[in-house]
Amino acid sequence: MFVDTHCHLSFPEFDQDRHEVIARLKEAGISLLIDPGIDIATSKKSIELAREFDFIYANVGFHPHEVKDFVTDLIFEELATLAVLPKVVAIGEIGLDYHYPDYNQSAQQDACREMLRIARSLDMPVVIHCRDAWPDMLQILSEENHSAMRGVMHCFSGDTEIASACIRKGFKLSIPGTVTYKRSLLPEVIRAVSLDDLLTETDAPYLSPVPHRGKRNEPAYVRTVTEAIARIREISLDNAATRIAHNAADIFRLPVAGQP
Ligand SMILES: [Zn+2]
Ligand SMILES: [Zn+2]
Repeated sequence: MFVDTHCHLSFPEFDQDRHEVIARLKEAGISLLIDPGIDIATSKKSIELAREFDFIYANVGFHPHEVKDFVTDLIFEELATLAVLPKVVAIGEIGLDYHYPDYNQSAQQDACREMLRIARSLDMPVVIHCRDAWPDMLQILSEENHSAMRGVMHCFSGDTEIASACIRKGFKLSIPGTVTYKRSLLPEVIRAVSLDDLLTETDAPYLSPVPHRGKRNEPAYVRTVTEAIARIREISLDNAATRIAHNAADIFRLPVAGQP
């Protein structure tokens, strides 16, 4: 009944023991896993993995880190072709990341807009990666949002004001393992929004929650994230997990989370 809506299980970090990681996530009660791509090759891997397992779904994306100075239209054409394959439920991850000064911000913006247009033309939700780029991200979403756009702010890192702006635009906020870190602002956000606007993720192999911080993250730990949300909202774990699974089914248009 737990849902990991953003997990790079198809990445090479899991090549040695993927089946054991899957056994552990089953044991922990994870019923849905969404594996996002960051470029053409990883999007293909996500789709392959989703074909192998009923409870895994794929996203097709072009991560801002992968946007080089010169991006050809062929990349977008190929990603659009992949996006319509079975088990692909969203366009992602896409977005803006200005964390390091040598990133090409205008190339990222162009690629993000292009991917948003693909999502709109296919009527698919988007999964956004945004770091240190909120004003530009929100502006691009406003400009490209001709009809209501649906999507997920993955690994949400904004404050309560940014949270409300995202929710008003039709986005859900996906809470990662950083919610367990001492200086996290996420508890305040989790208290301020409706439970209907929250999702859970690991972003594995990155960002392990406490007490696994610094080690490889894995999807089973999404239970820890859900426990943190239940504690912050002062509700039962069951209630939090059921509501969040429902939110995931809703945004990705799955009949019931994890049940194909
Ligand atoms: Zn990301
Ligand atoms: Zn990611």
